[in-house]
Amino acid sequence: MIAENLSEVRERISQAIQNSGRKPDSVRLVTVSKQVSVAQIEEARSVGAMIFGENKIQEAVPKIEQIGSQDISWHFIGHLQKNKVKFLDARFDLIHSVDSLELAEKISILCQAENRVQKVLLQVNVSGEEAKFGMFTDEVEKRLGDFSRLQGIEVEGLMTIPPHDSDPENSRRHFSKLREIRERCEKKNGVPLHELSMGMSHDFEVAVEEGATLVRVGSAIFGPRQTMPES
Ligand SMILES: *Cc1c(COP(=O)(O)O)cnc(C)c1O
Repeated sequence: MIAENLSEVRERISQAIQNSGRKPDSVRLVTVSKQVSVAQIEEARSVGAMIFGENKIQEAVPKIEQIGSQDISWHFIGHLQKNKVKFLDARFDLIHSVDSLELAEKISILCQAENRVQKVLLQVNVSGEEAKFGMFTDEVEKRLGDFSRLQGIEVEGLMTIPPHDSDPENSRRHFSKLREIRERCEKKNGVPLHELSMGMSHDFEVAVEEGATLVRVGSAIFGPRQTMPES
């Protein structure tokens, strides 16, 4: 099943790229492997999945230790608590979910001590819902300079999780808003923000049409999860 699902998701991404007149290689698929077994991850890897996304440090660490990082990479996509930063190590090529300057500073200190640079995305709460993780739009626009001045981290773009809505068309305005924020931030700060991480199983095609460079897809590849953890 995993092989079929993966190839279908890839096909749908290609279609959305074509429909929107974007370049063929402009979107990368992050295969979200949270709550998925090592065997299933290995299966996805054997049929060409290249990037795996995990959302909990304590779950990710043993899986990554078992599977390794040869020919694949790991992204961290979940809410990162400041007291878990020390467990990051150099495991994750990209952290999608930096949602405060304080968190960025913690990562910056760790990475300077380890003499490396961690690539990150800033998570934006585009809808302005109170209960969500992510920074509000005006905060991101105002503070981007502070983030990009930090040593040991490199801000590569923005990420968002729109409010859940079963109709993907309702996510479109949130995705286009993230793209507009990116454009304003680039203009204002002169910092290139190449990556837009947006779109999940139920709405990744709309996200691609609106400019996503990274889509995070789990259940459309591995099937439904047992429980839905907080995103
Ligand atoms: C779980 C999760 C996903 C994938 O969700 P699916 O609906 O299973 O595709 C994407 N992004 C984040 C941040 C997640 O936590």
